[in-house]
Amino acid sequence: MGSVIGKLIYWLNHSICSNFKTQNNEKVSNFVLYIEQIVIILHKNLNKADMKVAIVGASGAVGQEFLRVLEERDFPIDELLLFGSPRSAGSKYTFRGKDIEVKLLQHNDDFKGVDIAFTSAGAGTSKEYAETITKYGAVMIDNSSAFRMDADVPLVVPEVNAPDAKVRPRGIIANPNCTTIQMVVALKPIEQLSHIKCVHVSTYQAASGAGAAAMKELYEQYRQVLAGEPVTVERFQYQLAFNLIPQVDVFTENDYTKEEMKMFNETRKIMHSDVRVSATCVRVPSLRSHSEAIWVETERPVSVKEAKAAFAKAEGLVIEDNPAEKKYPMPLFLAGKDPVYIGRIRKDLANDNGLTFWIVGDQIKKGAALNAVQIAEYLIKEKAL
Ligand code: NAP
Repeated sequence: MGSVIGKLIYWLNHSICSNFKTQNNEKVSNFVLYIEQIVIILHKNLNKADMKVAIVGASGAVGQEFLRVLEERDFPIDELLLFGSPRSAGSKYTFRGKDIEVKLLQHNDDFKGVDIAFTSAGAGTSKEYAETITKYGAVMIDNSSAFRMDADVPLVVPEVNAPDAKVRPRGIIANPNCTTIQMVVALKPIEQLSHIKCVHVSTYQAASGAGAAAMKELYEQYRQVLAGEPVTVERFQYQLAFNLIPQVDVFTENDYTKEEMKMFNETRKIMHSDVRVSATCVRVPSLRSHSEAIWVETERPVSVKEAKAAFAKAEGLVIEDNPAEKKYPMPLFLAGKDPVYIGRIRKDLANDNGLTFWIVGDQIKKGAALNAVQIAEYLIKEKAL
């Protein structure tokens, strides 16, 4: 509907208006301009009323965050549809004061008329249902790893490469891996000063990165340990309570985990760069927000002063860095916040062209739901839905 009215405005402007203007018929020209204004207002209102949004995986950690973020940001929604597996189909979630029932995700025509589908139901579900979701023109913004490295699917962090979202031959835009999203937000301002040749990163990833059930398991493990009961281990490789696990996802043939290889490959795709990222990803017994210790090597030495000035101006980044006052970002205090927080900014003592810093970001928010919603907001702003 939006594009038809857009064409009408174009036609009014270029054909009728210019004709009458060249004939110097001021009265008629004013009348046409008046009609044009009405059409523009109609256009805006129709676009707003048109907006139909779907969340696939609504019951999950990311799905629940979508509901909060869409409400918090007053995202323009006329109708919201929720989808899940048989486990959550029929249950209800509240959005803007109204209860919405979760529909069973099926291969049918439920996505007809949907403008944007936020999907967070795992890679298998995304792969199986992509065609069903996109066949009537819905833009699928996918949180899983299913399509991230496909050449015809853009991988987008709005602060870094928003325009990539406009070129999406399959109607799919991939949301990057959560640890990568927060890292590239911090790398972008340094890259603008001097090309980053390589990155070493150690992550400290919260339990909720493994989903809603994993968060519950961590609570339960703490309770069991304190009660002297046997510990349930289902969602992690080992007991996570009172422990650290240097494995996130499964190992690949080079002995790096899939999570670590995502940081290597996805960073290059998002930043359009040949940067090499060597990561060690560690699961830690915090509940929410991932932390990362990062070392970057740039082509020329970048001073701490320059870096801080660039970080201060960067979109989506907040500096919390004052060693004298013990000021640095910590996951416990930053859950639920939008930006990525950066601190401990200093020279790398082992590399003349190196800088090191520490970042913390809410991986369910900026690392998943918020990033996807920001992509959608960008498309609306650019009239590129
Ligand atoms: P989660 O808490 O385990 O939730 C999984 C969701 O997927 C549930 O709503 C589940 O619905 C739904 N689902 C599973 N199979 C389905 C099917 N066949 N049809 C329809 N719905 C199905 O997991 P999560 O943490 O939200 O993660 C979801 C996705 O986001 C994953 O791909 C994950 O890698 C990605 N992600 C997660 C994070 C994070 O920090 N957690 C960050 C970035 C990206 P039912 O309850 O009905 O089964």
